[in-house]
Amino acid sequence: MYNSLKRLTLLSAIGLMACSSSPTGRQQLLLFSDQDMSTLGAQSFEQMKQDQKISTNRKTNAYVQCVAKAVTSHVPAQAGFKDWEVVVFDSEQVNAFALPGGKIGVYTGLLDVAKNQDQLATVIGHEIAHVLADHSNERLSQSQLANAGLQITSAALGSSQYAQYQSATMAALGLGIQYGVLLPYGRTQESEADLVGLELMAKAGFDPTQSVELWKNMAKASGGSQPPELLSTHPSHSTRIQDLSAKIASLPNYNIKRPNCS
Ligand SMILES: [Zn+2]
Repeated sequence: MYNSLKRLTLLSAIGLMACSSSPTGRQQLLLFSDQDMSTLGAQSFEQMKQDQKISTNRKTNAYVQCVAKAVTSHVPAQAGFKDWEVVVFDSEQVNAFALPGGKIGVYTGLLDVAKNQDQLATVIGHEIAHVLADHSNERLSQSQLANAGLQITSAALGSSQYAQYQSATMAALGLGIQYGVLLPYGRTQESEADLVGLELMAKAGFDPTQSVELWKNMAKASGGSQPPELLSTHPSHSTRIQDLSAKIASLPNYNIKRPNCS
C-alpha cells in the first residue's frame, strides 16, 4: 500500500512534464527526451553491429534496403529521423527491430517467414511504428519507476556509465533476446504497432492484406522446432488477425503499386 502510494506520488510529480499521448490517443508516461532515446538507439545499434554478423549478400541487402526505403519514405517528417540506417544481419533468427534515431535491423532468417515484399514491409512498418509511438521510451520509463536502482539520466547516457544500464536499455528497445533480458511488448503496444505499421506500409504502396498472411506464417512457424524470435518480444494475441482485417477494411483507398523490390 505504502509503495503504491509512494509510486502514485512520484507519478503525479513527474506526470505534468512527462505525460504524452500515443498515435492512437492513449496517455503515455515518457521520462526521456527524443534526443536521449536517439542516443540510446544509436549506441545500441553500434553494439549490435559489433556483436552480430552482418550479411554481405548483395541481392539480399538490395532487397531489404529497397523495402525499408519505401516504408521509411512515408514516415512523417515530425518523427525527426530523416535518414534511416538499415543493416541486414546474417542469422537464422526470425527477427527484426527498429530503434529510435532511425535504425533498422533485419535478420536473414525473417525472409523465410516474410515470404514477399509486402510481408517484409509489414514487419518493417510494425517495427518503425513501435519507434514512432515511443514504446521504448515508455518501457524504459516504466523500468525506471519500477526499479529504484535503475536511475538512467541524460548525463549517464553519453558516458561510460552507460554499460551499467545496457541490459535494461536493450530490453526496453526490444533487443533483449540477444542479451538474455526479455521484455515482451504489451498487447496494447502490439496492437498500436500493428495499426500504425499497417497504415505506413499501405501508404508506401504495399498490399495491406499481406499483413494477415505474414502473421499466419509467423503462427505456422511457431509450431516448428525453432519458434520465431520475433514472437518472443512481439507476442501474438488471438484477435490480432481479426483486428488487422478490420483495419484493412477501413483504410483509405491506397494504390497497391508495390515498389518492385524483389
Ligand atoms: Zn511489436
